[in-house]
Amino acid sequence: MQAADHPVVVGLDNGGTSNNATVLDVSGRFLIDRLVETPSRVREGPEAAIEALVQALDHVLELVGTARVSVRAVGLDTPGPASANGVISSKGSTNFSHPAWRGFDFRGALEQRLGLPVVYNNDGNAAALYAHHVRFGSEGPGHSSVSVVVGTGLGGGIIEAGRVVRGVAGMAGELGHVQIPMEGLLDEGQPLPRCNCGFLGDAESVASLTGIEKNLLPYWLTRFDRHQLADVGSMATAAKLVRSYGDKGDPLALKIFEQQAMALGRLFTIAANFCDPSAYFLGGGVVETAPKFREWFLTKVRENTVLRAEQARVAIFGLVPDLDMAGARGAAVAALDSLETTT
Ligand SMILES: [Zn+2]
Repeated sequence: MQAADHPVVVGLDNGGTSNNATVLDVSGRFLIDRLVETPSRVREGPEAAIEALVQALDHVLELVGTARVSVRAVGLDTPGPASANGVISSKGSTNFSHPAWRGFDFRGALEQRLGLPVVYNNDGNAAALYAHHVRFGSEGPGHSSVSVVVGTGLGGGIIEAGRVVRGVAGMAGELGHVQIPMEGLLDEGQPLPRCNCGFLGDAESVASLTGIEKNLLPYWLTRFDRHQLADVGSMATAAKLVRSYGDKGDPLALKIFEQQAMALGRLFTIAANFCDPSAYFLGGGVVETAPKFREWFLTKVRENTVLRAEQARVAIFGLVPDLDMAGARGAAVAALDSLETTT
């Protein structure tokens, strides 16, 4: 039980259906060791979503026995696209489809509602900050890292000297839309993969669930006659099954994951030349698999990451830890960091 005057920060990870909340005390200790989920109500528009976040905050504080008066700052993370300061894109987005979200200052509105400082990050950047924090702890400011998270899309972030690189419009670290060389990655005759963003051959067009569904699986099914995945019905359903086939060593699935690992290795190679980070972190469904498959995949990623000898000697490869909690925890770390800068 925490004393009422024990200062804390709260991390709120805002998703399409749920909010996930966590509490970090100012000494850097997480007071919650699991997912604490409540409905996010984002589809009902900003007003309902703000109230849902307030409830998420009060609920998680109640769980740790801390009063709201002890909260020094709140970290909020959401899926993008949003500005560096948490203004939702004027075009809306998948999660923020209600028209009232367009151009809505989500961070500012929550800050006003709570009367507490709110620090914003997109979910990829929050997860990247958490991975950095877990690996480097208090040494964080002395290091840089690049994180990629393979999910429906390819998210991630860049941390430089312990800080999230946000960019002028909040679009830094959009690693999924970095174009990578396709030569030697694609099979002979395989069409150039296309991303939802319109680019051909960016990292997400290969290394994401969407990339499997739209690009990789349709092609590889033409190369494996009478494969079971051809009978599943929809390509979307079949794409979701590819991982379990990979776990079992299915040759078609392994072709797909080999291409994904190659794409990620090439993306890390670009990162190596762009920011020469201390660490490369990988997260997402593809590394939340059986240990044998995960090791195979990580080895392939490393084999395809071309580092100079000086870099290879010191660079660290690791996983984005506690992925389901990484957004909330990274948001909380950002809130804690903000206290250290202002005091
Ligand atoms: Zn793209």
